[in-house]
This record gives sequence, C-alpha cells and structure tokens, in this order.
Amino acid sequence: MKRFLVGFLALFMAFSLALPYSAQAAQSVEAVEVAVTTELDVSRSVLSLTEIRDVTIEADFGRKVDLENLELQFGGKTLDEWKQWDADSKSYSGNPFILVTKEPYYVDGTTKIAAELEFGLPFGTEDLSPRSIRVIYKELLGDYELALIDGDNEAKAATTVQLNVYDEFLEWDEIKPSIDQIFEEAGSLNERYLHYESPGKSVEGKDMHLVVLAKDEDAVTNYLENTLPAALETPEELLAKLKDGTLGDYQIPIWFNNIHPDEAEGIDFQTGLLKQFALESEVSFTTTDDNGNDTEVVLNVDEVLDHIIFIFNFSHNPDGRVHNTRANVNGFDLNRDNAYQTQIETIQLNQVIAKWTPLAMMEGHGYVKGFLIEPATPPHNPNFEYDLLMEGMIPQAHAMGQAGIGNSELTSYFLASEGYKDGWDDMGPSYTPIFSMLHGTLGHTVEVPTLSQNAYDAMVGAGLGMINYVFENKDDLFTRQLEIFNRGLNGEDNRLVDPLLTNAAGESIGRVRGEHENFFPDYYVIPIDSFNQKNVSEVYNMVDYLIRNGVKVEQTTDVVKIGPTTYPEGTFVVPMKQAKRGLANAMLYAGDDVSDWEAMYDPVVANFPALRGFNIVDVRMKEEDVLEGITAEVTEVAVPTSEVDEGKAMQVLKNVNNDTIKLVNELLKEEKHVGIVQEDKHGFEIGDFVVRTEDIAPLVDKYVFEATALPTYRPVDTKWIVEPKVAGSGSGQLTFSLKELGFTLTDEEQADIVVSDSALPQELTGKTYVGIGNSVLKAVHESGLLEGFEYKTTKGGHEGLVKTMVNTDHPLMAGYRPEELFYTTRGSWITAVPEGAEVLATVKGTDDFFVAGWWPGHEDAKGKILAFTQQMEDTSVILFANDLAFRAHTKHSYRLLANSIFTAAEETTAPEQ
Ligand SMILES: [Zn+2]
Repeated sequence: MKRFLVGFLALFMAFSLALPYSAQAAQSVEAVEVAVTTELDVSRSVLSLTEIRDVTIEADFGRKVDLENLELQFGGKTLDEWKQWDADSKSYSGNPFILVTKEPYYVDGTTKIAAELEFGLPFGTEDLSPRSIRVIYKELLGDYELALIDGDNEAKAATTVQLNVYDEFLEWDEIKPSIDQIFEEAGSLNERYLHYESPGKSVEGKDMHLVVLAKDEDAVTNYLENTLPAALETPEELLAKLKDGTLGDYQIPIWFNNIHPDEAEGIDFQTGLLKQFALESEVSFTTTDDNGNDTEVVLNVDEVLDHIIFIFNFSHNPDGRVHNTRANVNGFDLNRDNAYQTQIETIQLNQVIAKWTPLAMMEGHGYVKGFLIEPATPPHNPNFEYDLLMEGMIPQAHAMGQAGIGNSELTSYFLASEGYKDGWDDMGPSYTPIFSMLHGTLGHTVEVPTLSQNAYDAMVGAGLGMINYVFENKDDLFTRQLEIFNRGLNGEDNRLVDPLLTNAAGESIGRVRGEHENFFPDYYVIPIDSFNQKNVSEVYNMVDYLIRNGVKVEQTTDVVKIGPTTYPEGTFVVPMKQAKRGLANAMLYAGDDVSDWEAMYDPVVANFPALRGFNIVDVRMKEEDVLEGITAEVTEVAVPTSEVDEGKAMQVLKNVNNDTIKLVNELLKEEKHVGIVQEDKHGFEIGDFVVRTEDIAPLVDKYVFEATALPTYRPVDTKWIVEPKVAGSGSGQLTFSLKELGFTLTDEEQADIVVSDSALPQELTGKTYVGIGNSVLKAVHESGLLEGFEYKTTKGGHEGLVKTMVNTDHPLMAGYRPEELFYTTRGSWITAVPEGAEVLATVKGTDDFFVAGWWPGHEDAKGKILAFTQQMEDTSVILFANDLAFRAHTKHSYRLLANSIFTAAEETTAPEQ
C-alpha cells in the first residue's frame, strides 16, 4: 500500500508541474461518492513502460447500468489525463497513452460489463535508455487503482494494477525478498544448494546481495578447498588428470554481475536466471547455429549443476539502484574503481571475486547500439595471458550473442573486438570483467542496446548462452585457466601472447620487455626500512590490497643483499612465480605508453608504486636466487605501532605520508598544538609538523607516522596554526580526497583556502586558491587574473605518468624529492608564468620523461612547467596542470593539497613549553 501512495503522489506531482493550473482544473475528476465497490477483473495486472499492453476488463454491478455514464479511471484520474512525456516541453503534455479500444459493453445479455484498453508507452518509446528519460521514468512506477465507476449509482469496480519498467524489474528493497522467496520455493522442490551472503555494505549501509547456487554443499566445499587451491598451487597435476580423465567430478564457478544499476537489466537478468536454475528441472532457450538457423537448446538443470556453480552478485552498487544512478554516492563510477579500489564497495567485492576466481563472468550493462559483447579492442593489457583467454572468450561471446538474439527480438549482436578498431580497449584494468581476466576469468561486459523488456530478454539470453557454453566446454575452458596459472607459477613469458598485442598501426609489438628476456620480474621487493622506503604507510596498504586480491605476498626472514642493496629482515617480497602474477604485475609495473592510439576508453595507468608513492624494486635473479628459502608467506597485514619517545615533550612528524596529514588534522580539530617547521635544521625539514608528545601518544595504533623527539635545546623556526578553513569545489572525487585526508570542509565564503578542479571562486580577496587541471587553467586564463600566464592543453582526458623535477626549496613542495613521478589526466602544461611567480614543478627535460599512459602529443610537454604559485596583494594562487586527486588513486599527490592548505592556515601563538 505504501507503494501505491508513493506512486500516486509522484505522479500527481508530475502532473501538477506539467500542466498549467487552469488545464488541471478543467481535467480533474469530479469527486464521486462511492457507496459500493466490487472487484474489477483484468486480463493482466502488470503493465509496462516499455511494451504496449492490451487489457480486457470485466465488472459486474449486479444490474444494468447506463453504459454511457460509466467512467474509467487509472490512479484516480480519467484515462485521457494520462499523457505521454513531451521531450521538448519536458512535461507530460503529449497524447494520452491509455486508450479505450473497445467501449464498455454487456457480455451476452448478462449484467457483466467488459471493455478493452490499450496501455501505451508513456515515453513514446520502448527504450527508456536516453539519459533524459532514464533519470525520470521511475516516478511512474508503482501500484495504481484501475476503476470502472458508475456515478449514477455511486458504485465502483476496481482492482490494483502494477506499472513497471518491464515485468521483471525490481527495486533494490524488493530484491532480497525475491531471493528469499526463491530459496523458500526451491526448498520444497529440490535438494539444490542455495546460499545467501552479503559481501559487504554500500556507502549508505545497504547490504550487497550475493547468492551461490550449486548442486550441493559438497560441490562448493570441494571447489573452494580442493579444486581451486590445487589450480593455484599445482595446476600441472590437475592438467594431467584432466588429460587422462582421472580428475573425476568437479564443479567450477561462473559469476553474474552488475555494477551500473541505472543500466537496469543488469540486475534483473540475474533474478531471472536464478529463478530458473533454482526452481526448474529444465531450462530451454533458442539460439542460432553457425548457419544462422534457430535451434532450441534444452538444459537439464541437474546436469548443469553437476558441472557449474552459479554466483550472482546482484549489484556492486546498491545505493545506485535506489537513487537510479551509475555512480556510488561518493560520485565514483565503480566500474573505474575495481583496480584502484578506493571505494568501500569495490574493496569488499573484489575480495570475494578473488576468493572464488570464477571461470567466467558476465556483467550486464547498457546501452550500446548493436548489442555489444566483449572481448575488447586493442590495446590489450600485456599482463593477460591473452591467447589463452581469447581461445575461450571469443567463441563464448558468440554463444552469448546468438542466445541473446534467440531469446529476444534483437536481430544482431557484435563483439567489440570485431566491430571496433579501437576505443573499447582492455588496457585499463578497472572494469570488473577486465579486472577478472587477471584472475584467469573469461570476463565479458555485455551492453544491451535499449532499456526495455526486449533488452532484458536479450540479457537473459546472453546469460543462458554463457551457461551453455561453459557446460559444453568446461574441461577445455578450465584447462586454459589452469594453463594461465601454470605460466604464472613457472614464471613463463609465453611468446604466443605477442602476436595479439599490437600497436595502432596494427603491427604486433608483443609485451614491451626492454632489455629483458622476460616481461615479468622474478620478484618485487617492497622495502619497509626507512633507508629504502619513503612511505611505509602505503606499503602496508599495498600489501593488504595484494592479499585481498589473491596475490601471494611474503616477508624476508633474514637480512638479504640484492645487488648493491641490503634489506633487513621483514622486507616484503612479491614472488612473481605465482598463479596470479598477472594481477600483481598489472598493479605494480610501470605501465605502457599507448599514445599512438587514436582513442582510449578510459585511463590505463594503474602503477600503484608511483601513484600511491612508495618504493619498489623489480628484481631479476642471476644464477643464484638469493631470496630462495628466506621468505615466509604473509596472510594478514600487521601494521606496527608508530613509535614515540615519551620522555620528551615535543615531537617532529615527518611530512612523508597521508596518515601523518590525517593525524595532524585530528589534532587541529581537537584544538591541539600543531606547528609547521619553517627551516631545514637539525635534520628536520620545512613542512614537517611539530606536535606535543602527549597528544600523539594515544594515536600510535591509529596512524602510521614517523616521529622524532624535539629537544628543547634544539629550537627550530615553527609556525603554529589553527584548523584551516577549507572549501572544495568541483568534482565529488576531489571533495572525497579532501575529506579522506581529514579536512573539514566549509563553504567558499567562510573559507580561507578554496581548492577546485573546475572553476574560480566568486571572491578571491583574502583567500588562497588552489586550482587543479585544465578546466581551472582555462578559467584562470580567461579571467585575466594572472597577467603573463599561458598554458596549453592537447585534450582533457589525455593521461600520463611523467617524470617531474620538483622545486624542493619551496615550502609547498615539502616532503617531496627532487625527482618524482606525477600523474595527469588533463593533457595540459604551463607555457608561461606571471612575473614574480615561483615555479613548483616542471616536466623533466629528457626524452624519457613520459613513463606510461595515453597522451597523443605529450612530446611538447617535455621540460614544461606543471605547477607554480603567485603571491598577489591580497590573494595567493597555486595552480597545478596535473591531477592531485584523481579518483582517489593519486594518493602520492595528496600532500601537495595538504601543504597548500596548511601553508595558508591562520597562525596562532606557540604553546607554552
Ligand atoms: Zn555500464
């Protein structure tokens, strides 16, 4: 009932807005006093926004009435008041969409009255995917009263009908009850194993829903405890058993996923598949054979379950289904976050994907004309075993497409890899199915062309196609996944990958190995001693990430000398001879320069060491493997307590990591004393923080920081500050990063410091302005604020990791080294600065300055300025051409934000010593 009211109210409001007052008054229904209500029979009670539906209604008032005076109402309004959406006027002011196709008549001389109605398309189209409709259609959903009213006799025949997107569409809060109902029905029908778990909660605290369907519990236990561990540790043994037919019964998981909930079918097709495979004994569908003829496939579900474990993750993004948005509530597109994993949803979900390591994955998306199915176009990420993946993915994608069109009225599909030349690549690893390929999974994004009943049917069909393909080819497909793991374990850089890795000219370039024989190093060594590591805090985050994603990490149990460097016991080591070495390498290697391509779907650089800002060494052993036998596996990260010498009153915190910034912000918030070192002296550096020992001692377990006692006989020039008044404007992602660092944000008028990646603030007087990226450069240039300032942008979105020379003498660059790797997706550099400006960072002037990314025309950025600051009479401006807070991944640049903010914070008096 609640839904009825909500639906009704929403609709009423829409009408109120859409029609001028006089028109509403003229059209509104006269109140009819109803004394008697009888049941109205309807031939169908679910109506659709995406399909025209004919409905026959019947009612019996028990006597003859005047048919001329009967009135039909829907949701309390006459039918002609229900008008189609008019895109031009952005109102429901088009033609009526509920039509009476046969006026009320008596059935065969009885008192029974019948009529025929046509419920048309409220948006004038079967496709709700256009953005202008997609954001509003949900206001029409709900339960409505359909009524036949006899005003003469104060009588009404009525029933409740549902208006839905398509029949299977469920709101987020309907999904769990629907799962429960399937479980309950299955419980009385069969012995199949159904398991529900929540892999975690969304930002707003909603449970994600994950369902496992298997033959029985043993199938799941056997896979997780025997088959998968053996696949990852001793794939050769499994390969041998598969070959000689002695492996016996085994089941492997396939995964269905959604991540963009406003691409509605991507959630609902899973409920559809779950229902069929949990409840039915047979599932049939139509596909087309190689000659283009329709063929019927009948799957015996118990036989399918002898081989396959189904996993349904209804959505990565529950909040997005509620709000009908693509992004999560922090404004992040989660399908760009599977590699970075900065958002709570992707952090939790990827742990579960790694745990299962599915053989195949289908993620439901929309809306691409022509019905697109991956594999993707080049350039391909070199960390895949691409040949082995494609041997399975290409035929599987065709099976999915054929079943998709067989199960719907769509007439064609295409593979991105066959239909496009570029621009739909799998170089960037942040999309769920593509990230899953690093687990050896056959990962497919499926893009239906429309938001409609028909597209829902097609998506279910694609799912059936995948199930059937895996069912028919399980041994072959699993063999290839095992070979992927085996190459990893053997450290094998198989040249069969090379022909598939091409440049823009179509020439095979293979994996870019430089001087090395093997693309993959033997080990990555990640030091944690202060001599070899600049940012220990991010090392712990990285190790946690790798373990969470199924990568094996070890720690040395002894001192070891590798090349010229000695590493103490406890140094982290990622052995690259392991099943998931492709995943590890994709996150840890420098990345590729793919600037020759004309188009790229999205940024491609992952490079955690550079973007998170920690030291890593890729190690290639000569004759002797000096790490052999002196490492032990780490299964959980134990972050050590930070050390504080409590014998002294004051401490200096090194400005080396974001944890330190968070700690400082916590102290400032509590009005504790925080000073900023203003000179390099006694081993302390400009930009370090002076704090009281008693204030930080309780926080040693909460933050990773490096503190040195400050003896009173060694005074350093310190500026004491209060909590800065900061405003963030522009992207939600910038705001997220500022909050992540612990800054409390205020509005622009109140702020002393305004940080923006989009525009100039209204008022600059008395403020410090920190501007980031090409939109800001443009706004500043057009404003004429800085005379002599010039810049160049090749294109917003052009991406690069560039060697950068840092002006370490400047306090704004405190805590950075003379040469750093900085990241940009802004395609911009600064060509001239105003008189008196101070340059903060410059792209290195050597030919090798460009490390990785997709930035056509980047050559012209060589040696150019990336950042500068200009002090004016009453305003301070700091401009960065590069990104400081891109998708919360560029954590190494965060302290540039913090330095700018703290430098501009209001000064206060020194504490009593
Ligand atoms: Zn999508």
